[in-house]
Amino acid sequence: LTTRSHPLPPTVHGTGGAAPMPRTVAVVGAGAAGLVAARELLREGHAVTVFERSARVGGTWAYDPRSDPYPPCLDTAAPGAAAVHGSLYASLRTNLPRELMGFSGFALAGRVFAGDPRTFPGHREVLAFLDAFAVESGVAGRVRLRAEVVRVGPLAGHGERWTVAWRGEGGVEEEEEEVFDAVVVCNGHCTVPLVPKLRGIGNWQGKQMHSHNYRTPEPFQDQVQDAVSVTVSIVVVVGLGASGVDIAREISNVAKEVHIASRYTEDRLGKVDTFQNTWLHSEVDCIQDDGQVRFSEGSASIAADTFLYCTGYRYHFPFLDVEGVTVDGNRVGPLYKHVFPPKHAPNLSFVGLPVKTIMFQSFELESRWVARALSGRAELPGEEAMAAAVEEDYRRMDAAGKPKRHTHALMPDWVEYMDWVAAQVGEPPMEARRREIYEKALRCIWSLDDSYRDSWEEEEEEENR
Ligand code: FAD
Repeated sequence: LTTRSHPLPPTVHGTGGAAPMPRTVAVVGAGAAGLVAARELLREGHAVTVFERSARVGGTWAYDPRSDPYPPCLDTAAPGAAAVHGSLYASLRTNLPRELMGFSGFALAGRVFAGDPRTFPGHREVLAFLDAFAVESGVAGRVRLRAEVVRVGPLAGHGERWTVAWRGEGGVEEEEEEVFDAVVVCNGHCTVPLVPKLRGIGNWQGKQMHSHNYRTPEPFQDQVQDAVSVTVSIVVVVGLGASGVDIAREISNVAKEVHIASRYTEDRLGKVDTFQNTWLHSEVDCIQDDGQVRFSEGSASIAADTFLYCTGYRYHFPFLDVEGVTVDGNRVGPLYKHVFPPKHAPNLSFVGLPVKTIMFQSFELESRWVARALSGRAELPGEEAMAAAVEEDYRRMDAAGKPKRHTHALMPDWVEYMDWVAAQVGEPPMEARRREIYEKALRCIWSLDDSYRDSWEEEEEEENR
């Protein structure tokens, strides 16, 4: 094990000029969040090193045809757990229009990066956009590929500096430690499945999988075994988020029946007009002794052969060796406004935790806030005041009946949060138009009518006429 300490370069150049207090900063992960974090840190004049475990930048948007076996990663300490980072399916198109998936000064709208000009492009287009962003922002030259961070902790005896232990493809043999002034954690949070514990799951004899492992619909295809007998797929999709809707639609084209179970379906239970062979149910009540699935609305129970959980992901930071930051019930905390642990602010931060918002925009705003807090151009309250604000946020969530596991889901106050972070870095509140586009996209996803992706432009023109 070798240890290096990072001196600052004699003159630090960023597009925004030298920061009042330039720092050496390690960014963990080169997905969309890590790339824009690095750009904002560079602009603020900091010296940046991005550690990326895989062989390329882009994170989630690098489609990986491999998938983890089920159960994947439920024991996150197990060898091979979460071996595959990505959770994209082959057919994936964005669920937000291009306009909401760019960065300031580097738009996804109005430019084509991989030959897919659609308003809701496929994943390759977004990946090519991120590649180009990394190059044109100057971040690519700061990324160390195949460099997995295995430990991040405060430097002994220097509470304010940080040790980052990382290794290359040589594994333990190649482990190295480096010291930085600050660490920004951007390791993504769509890898480790969050799987609900269904009542009676012990009675289940069929298959189970999570959307993390879903790539193509073929495994759900009816299979004719001989002239008379047919093995049919009857699939219960648990969860009705963007992935649940896409995947249910896709497998409904090949499976015998698809049953979607979600607590958000009460006003539209029954057959779905826009999909083949698909029914909406309320939550799964239990798996009966005979193995059939019962839903809580009391419809006839069904004999299914696969559970497909589209139930989201767990936050997971296996490399963090830091007192005072935990993941409890999928709440990462305590974190001041989802970014700074009060005890270690501003030198340890997290970019990209919030969901149910315009993610690329929140990555950028949070990153700018971190970059300026590190240089002293954005002032943070003291540790106690931040801790008290976190407690107050938790109290408000409790009072509103928001479950702990939804701590980082910004709905319904997503604009309030975005505007609050924007104000910390002197940016104006969100334009009403962006808010409307985002909320329209959410309504479209929920409508269970896939045609919105292709009719969006036309509808927009009509609305503006
Ligand atoms: P990631 O993209 O996951 O990047 C994290 C990076 O960190 C990875 O490259 C990983 O290899 C690296 N890493 C992890 N651990 C380590 C380590 N120990 N050391 C070094 N490197 C490490 N968002 C949208 O805005 N629009 C959409 O349409 C959309 N669709 C989605 C569809 C699906 C199926 C999924 C799963 C997500 C979707 N998202 C969408 C959300 C998506 O997660 C974000 O857009 C965004 O790409 C997340 O970026 P990130 O940088 O936070 O994480």
